[in-house]
Amino acid sequence: MGLNFPTMDLYHPSDLQNLITTLENSDLVSYILDSDLRFAYCNPAWDEFASKNGAPQLDHRRVVGTQLMPSIPLVLTPFYLRVFEEVRNSGLIWQYVYECSSPDRFRKFRMRVHQVNGDWWLVSNALVVEEGHHATAAASDAIYRGSNGLINMCSHCRCTQRTDKPTQWDFVPQYLVRTSQALTVSHGICPICYAYFYPPNGQPLREQPQ
Ligand SMILES: [Zn+2]
Repeated sequence: MGLNFPTMDLYHPSDLQNLITTLENSDLVSYILDSDLRFAYCNPAWDEFASKNGAPQLDHRRVVGTQLMPSIPLVLTPFYLRVFEEVRNSGLIWQYVYECSSPDRFRKFRMRVHQVNGDWWLVSNALVVEEGHHATAAASDAIYRGSNGLINMCSHCRCTQRTDKPTQWDFVPQYLVRTSQALTVSHGICPICYAYFYPPNGQPLREQPQ
């Protein structure tokens, strides 16, 4: 799908279209906000998450065009506004782990906020797979270590590619600490970071946080 992004700043229109195509095919629940913090786009992973969690009102057809802030608890509004301001001022990616459990599943996600052209924002949410998750298999070699013995971790966002479902990249910090054999981690780049940090038209890279 096409979006009417502002055309100034970081990205060439075809690179933005490439970013959208990548989000269309990503398992990371992702959305794009315009400069008024209105949803301009939600990806299919977003719709799937909404549907699986019994929240049809969150389908992109109902969400796109609405404001982000009313969907966030009022007390968190100043916090989120500060996040966007910080990303704008620093040029860095901002990230944050938060809990988003359903009645029968304990879940955490790692959110990353990226700036795109003209104060538009890309927000992506990676599932955090940890010890002690109910109904989520604990992170293990069986899921993340390839037949060559290597774990493929994105060198930008540090998500790790699943071997049973290679399109999915999870955030598995505890597993990586536990397996900490540095030589068995190969550094790749996940599709979203590739589209964001390495646009084919050669726009400058954004600096990374530590
Ligand atoms: Zn990445």
